[in-house]
Amino acid sequence: MPVYSAPLDDIRFVLHDVLGAESLSALPGYEEFSADLADQILEEGSKICAEVLFSLNQSGDQEGCVLENGDGLTSVRTPAGFKTAYDTFRDGGWCGIACDPAYGGMGMPHVINTAMKEMICSANMSFGMYPGLSYGAFEAIHKFGDEALKTIYLPKLAEGVWSGTMCLTEPQCGTDLGLIKTRAVPQDDGSYAVTGTKIFISAGEHDLTENIIHLVLARLPDAPEGVKGISLFIVPKFLPDDMSRNAVVCGAIEHKMGIKASSTCVINLDEAKGWLIGEPHKGLRAMFAMMNDARLGVAMQGLGIAEVAYQNGLAYAKERLQMRALDGAKFPDKPADPIIVHPDVRRMILISKGFTEGARALSYWIGMELDISLKHPDADTRQAADDIVALMTPILKAYQTDMGSEVANLTVQIYGGHGYIQEHGVEQYVRDARIAQIYEGANGIQALDLVGRKMPQGYGRLLRRFFHPVQRFIEENGEDEALQDLVFPLARAFSKLQQSTAMIAQKGLKDPVEAGAASSDYLRQFALVALAWMWCRMGRVAQERISAGQGDKAFYEAKLKTARFFMQRMLPEADSRFKMAMAGAESLMSLSAEEF
Ligand SMILES: Cc1cc2nc3c(=O)[nH]c(=O)nc-3n(C[C@H](O)[C@H](O)[C@H](O)COP(=O)(O)OP(=O)(O)OC[C@H]3O[C@@H](n4cnc5c(N)ncnc54)[C@H](O)[C@@H]3O)c2cc1C
Repeated sequence: MPVYSAPLDDIRFVLHDVLGAESLSALPGYEEFSADLADQILEEGSKICAEVLFSLNQSGDQEGCVLENGDGLTSVRTPAGFKTAYDTFRDGGWCGIACDPAYGGMGMPHVINTAMKEMICSANMSFGMYPGLSYGAFEAIHKFGDEALKTIYLPKLAEGVWSGTMCLTEPQCGTDLGLIKTRAVPQDDGSYAVTGTKIFISAGEHDLTENIIHLVLARLPDAPEGVKGISLFIVPKFLPDDMSRNAVVCGAIEHKMGIKASSTCVINLDEAKGWLIGEPHKGLRAMFAMMNDARLGVAMQGLGIAEVAYQNGLAYAKERLQMRALDGAKFPDKPADPIIVHPDVRRMILISKGFTEGARALSYWIGMELDISLKHPDADTRQAADDIVALMTPILKAYQTDMGSEVANLTVQIYGGHGYIQEHGVEQYVRDARIAQIYEGANGIQALDLVGRKMPQGYGRLLRRFFHPVQRFIEENGEDEALQDLVFPLARAFSKLQQSTAMIAQKGLKDPVEAGAASSDYLRQFALVALAWMWCRMGRVAQERISAGQGDKAFYEAKLKTARFFMQRMLPEADSRFKMAMAGAESLMSLSAEEF
């Protein structure tokens, strides 16, 4: 049986020691926020994740969702225990943890929600899809809906009695939303008749909530071609005035590789009643508000799966006895040594640890910047934080989900053949993690977003928001003897990142194929430098605490050792990514289709 306990010590270290998250209490709306409050909430949240959600993860995977045909209309039954777990989750107020209190939410900072998302995804990624999508729907309506729509929908979504979906994909249109065919025809009463077929819709139909609120991308009759002609509509399963059934039904559910307890539906709309959100033909803007949040949510899926996989790999490596240590038996009284003595097994565990702890700091930092971008009274400070969130979103989404898969795979490797067997539960992590690299914009598309949109924005303004503080950190800490083995590798990798950035900015402006060819390697290089900066920041705090004789010395020493491992064994990948990014498009593009 797999194990999971929320890494609260590390979460507290990142939130309080490294990021000083309690400083958010200076922001309007967060006056009540404090370190104690954060700890209390996360402690409570960790209980529901570890005790309620995690216990349903394996059974949910085995049972999956079932399409039923009751009163002539299809419905989806979630696995046994999900409904009760959802009720407990909802009654605890967790659905509305970061929602606006004006509409019934708890109004906690996003950084706390980020930590909560990590724990939910570790415990049960499938379960997390349901409240995750509802939160995205809440945010889109909150930002773009008029007051009438907000009053009807937001309190129910924040309370969790209604849930949300995001309906973009159609059979002919995945990445390329310009190909959307679903139509919306204006009606005399101000509503729209929405007709079309959406596929792969997560939480499209299920038995957890009283109503399901679909946010649907569709075209108005006078819509221009392509992405400039897409509008966003709210299409409820039950119409809110009399709770009568709307013409939106689930045609089928997908049988898929992982996240089997999350229902993935074909949704048929047949002149379903809907209402426009935001301006006509500007739906993509509103949907992007939802998608940006969702992309950070998916990044947390990568981290969440990596954390639980790491915990299991570590536990197994401590108990599985095979062979003797290379330099002689460590446990001569036992028939063999635990596999954690072997360098190669340690390599896999440390890659997992180096990623999860580094990515936790990176994700929570962005969670805090998101709070500053929304709440800070000073417009320039808000803009600066918004720039950082925009720049880092594709990096977190792609890198953390790629690594979620990698760490899950490493864990199977640590288990050997036993990892490949269902009973131990770790092969599920490989299957569950895989989708996060694909949805919310496949990772290749995140890389294009980075080089094509984020890099040139504001003539490099977004990049400077990252480069300047890193440069400052290196200048301020470069002379510190105790941190040399951390800051020096960061400085080296950072200088290469500046070189590849300049190359892509120059070549890519003239030839977008060059930028596209460099994009994925560049994104990975960028992510590794960002993680190296986080490890330096964590290392500095750990060093300070040890010098001052404060806190748990063993914890801080382990931090420093892991930071050194990251610099020596993980950061060098940035060098090879640099070379690949700099190699140019020629060798990638020169084969004709027939020559493959
Ligand atoms: C389990 C699951 C849940 C989902 N949930 C939802 C949901 O709730 N709502 C929703 O609307 N959709 C959902 N989706 C759909 C998902 O978002 C799409 O599958 C995804 O956007 C990719 O689209 P596609 O599958 O059509 O692939 P395609 O768009 O056909 O892409 C195929 C490959 O080509 C690459 N590619 C395409 N264009 C380019 C380009 N210009 N440059 C470089 N590479 C490119 C892609 O990166 C990808 O690797 C879900 C899918 C699954 C499997």
